[in-house]
Amino acid sequence: MTRASLFKFVGLLACVFLLACYLLVYIASDLDRSEQEDRAFHVEKALKSLEAALTGSIKDYAILNDPLEYKLSEKDMGWSHSLEKIGLELHRTLGVQGLFVLNGQNQTIYSAVNGELTSVQAERWANHSLGPFLNEARAGAKTSAPTSAFININGIPALVAAMATGQTRTRSSSSTGSSSPSLFLAVVVLDEAKLRKMAEDYDITGLRVAPSDAHHEASILPLGHNGEAGVLQWDLPKPGRNLLELGLPLLGISALLIFLMTWVIMRRATAAAHALDDSYIFLQNAQVALAASEERFRDVVEASSDWVWEIDAEWRFKYLSERFEIVTGLHRNAWLGAVIDGLLSTTEPGMLSSKLCSPRRRHDLHLQCSYIDATGQIRITRISAREMTNGGFRGAATDITEEVEARRRIEFLSQHDAMTGLPNRIRLQEFLDGKLKAFPTDDRPLVMLSLDLDRFKPVNDMLGHAAGDSVLNEVSIRLAACVRQDDLVARIGGDEFVLILTDLTCQGEVESLCERLIKSIERPIKISGQEVFISASIGIAMAPNDAREATELLRYADIALYEAKAHGRNTWRFYAGDMNAKLIERRRLEIDLRNAITNGELQLQFQPRSRIVDGNMVGAEALVRWLHPERGLILPDAFIPIAEDAGMILTISDWVLETACFHAKCWPDNLFVSVNLSPAEFKQGNLIGRVRKILAESGIKPHRLELEITESLMLEDVEGVLEVMHALKCLGVRISMDDFGIGYSSLSHLRTFPFDGMKIDRSFLNKMSENEDHRALIEAMVGIGHALALTVTAEGIETSEQLDLLKSVSCDEGQGYYLSLPLDIDEFTDLVKSTLM
Ligand code: C2E
Ligand code: CA
Ligand code: CA
Repeated sequence: MTRASLFKFVGLLACVFLLACYLLVYIASDLDRSEQEDRAFHVEKALKSLEAALTGSIKDYAILNDPLEYKLSEKDMGWSHSLEKIGLELHRTLGVQGLFVLNGQNQTIYSAVNGELTSVQAERWANHSLGPFLNEARAGAKTSAPTSAFININGIPALVAAMATGQTRTRSSSSTGSSSPSLFLAVVVLDEAKLRKMAEDYDITGLRVAPSDAHHEASILPLGHNGEAGVLQWDLPKPGRNLLELGLPLLGISALLIFLMTWVIMRRATAAAHALDDSYIFLQNAQVALAASEERFRDVVEASSDWVWEIDAEWRFKYLSERFEIVTGLHRNAWLGAVIDGLLSTTEPGMLSSKLCSPRRRHDLHLQCSYIDATGQIRITRISAREMTNGGFRGAATDITEEVEARRRIEFLSQHDAMTGLPNRIRLQEFLDGKLKAFPTDDRPLVMLSLDLDRFKPVNDMLGHAAGDSVLNEVSIRLAACVRQDDLVARIGGDEFVLILTDLTCQGEVESLCERLIKSIERPIKISGQEVFISASIGIAMAPNDAREATELLRYADIALYEAKAHGRNTWRFYAGDMNAKLIERRRLEIDLRNAITNGELQLQFQPRSRIVDGNMVGAEALVRWLHPERGLILPDAFIPIAEDAGMILTISDWVLETACFHAKCWPDNLFVSVNLSPAEFKQGNLIGRVRKILAESGIKPHRLELEITESLMLEDVEGVLEVMHALKCLGVRISMDDFGIGYSSLSHLRTFPFDGMKIDRSFLNKMSENEDHRALIEAMVGIGHALALTVTAEGIETSEQLDLLKSVSCDEGQGYYLSLPLDIDEFTDLVKSTLM
């Protein structure tokens, strides 16, 4: 309701109340007025009836007592008695206080006051002049009508009535010439008693004689002419005023109440209206928000790469978003109404519908499903579903085909070697764990082969990495071809492979497999027109005989492999218990070696190198020894590989270089010192810097220092090695190739690298005596060395014959037990001194 209509309503209400007030006042005044008229009427009626009764009685008596006329003049006592009776009667019935009989001269003949005869004159008793009235009464005698009037007797109004007696005879008396008739005169004084009686009879309250100043009041009746006889007054009930007194407050209260109620109702109505307005606005906002949300939902649904679906309780599609067609290529209309299981099947066993209604399902479900798209391809989709309140489900489908494929690929890559495609270490571990869980027995053991390619590194270095990769790929194929489908061939490092086999029952079978494997690998591999020859060493460990744990098995197979390599490569070894002991021993040595330098346990021996022609010493090779506090003397072949493996070779080499130079400094200038370097020193550590520093610190002339490096070094990083060698040459030191003739001898190395000399490996000298061919070989080697302007040294001269032979082939220098054993520094110093003398 608006404010204006509220004011209108209140105004209308006010008008109604004003009207009601007016009506009430009007009714009240009307009531009062009619009450007043009613009372006045009653008073008049009372007076009139009194007057009528009095005049009637007077008339009756006047007529009845007409014969008494005669006796009037004589003062008859009998008449007096009659009058007394009449007076008494009138006094009793009408309250007549004075009854008089007057003669024609208005003299009182008889008088009865209050019913008792007296002799008082009427005028005196009345204390009022009655002349005019009496005359009027006598005039009335002609019409036989009594006369009445109100007079005032001693301040109290009184009704007088008179009637001439003997009217019947009046007509005759007039004939006799008689003058005035006698009169009956009755007076009723309207005193308090009479008025009370009248009031009682006419139900008038408070009828009384009014005081002289009450003339103007409404409830009065003046008696006589202009009220000369007095004024009657009575109580006037005010029903109107009472009504007003009661009605107005009631009306006021009810108006107030109605206003109050209206106010409250209006307030409530206003509040309700406000609330309604608010809820309307809220509703409007909600509708706007709903519309926006619907639009957003539509946008999101259609913009999203997912398609949205809805199925009813019968698993039939009720809704499919437009995206469905784009993603799947299928027609929406063809699928609406179709059962969801017809399109989607879960990747786990069981139908999608049974998964959706499974009692153990969560509120929100996520399932991986597959379906066949329009092109007939299998697509993978992730379904998210939520149960609807009215039954059925709705959800979204996200195409995750690529994701699954990528995941599969990642999983594959994480478990396989990218280059060869063989399982990697992770897959191996998994496979191994799985096989070991099946508890292999001695009858059906699990065989693990640890296979390492021999001579692979040179191939890689010489022919390049691409060739190396090709070799590895070819080897992978050949290995895989030698085993069953269920077996596993894994590549776990550069040229390291592990094979897991479960179908071999005895050692013989294992050995024949190893033979096959090695033979297969030994077959030449053709790489860009070149034939490459490699071989392999195999270590074998078996579960449960050797170990039941995967890591242990791997370790034991590695130990066996190590053993196989140590025994000339291209062979296999079964793990044996003592191999482990050897390995433990090696570990212990490694730990001890760490402290060897600081503990001063390392020593240098010097083995002289002499010119073959004249036997003069030209220098000495520094050979390191380890004086172990418990194990005694340990030769370098036993600990240098450990130092190399354990990363301690630089420390040892530094010590050897320093010590060798430090001693050589004291030797004659024509003697050089020769120091062996490990291949590792070329790759790591700042060899040039170290050598420069040592030369500077020791003060030895650079040409007096010779560095011996093995041919294997040349097979690795050719460029890097060349660079280092040239830098060393720049420092002025000599470089010779150690152990020439074994391993990967390649004459090109001698040509490519800036060597100053070569040392023919001692194995050639050993075999020389056995075979003429070897002699020729040594001669050829010396020839090559000379052709390349290298100083050729023969190692391992143990006999005079060997020396002679070397002399015959013009070998430059020689070294060997025959010439001198490696000597302690003191012994060597003594030797030097003795040769000088
Ligand atoms: P290598 O460089 O060929 O050293 C010569 C080895 O032949 C020495 O063995 C020496 O004692 C031994 N020898 C010398 N004359 C004869 C002989 O007439 N007959 C026989 N059968 N052997 C002879 P050693 O001292 O045991 O050294 C073994 C290898 O250890 C060395 O072979 C060398 O490659 C390495 N080596 C020695 N000292 C060091 C070093 O300080 N640093 C590095 N990196 N390697 C070292
Ligand atoms: Ca050497
Ligand atoms: Ca050597």
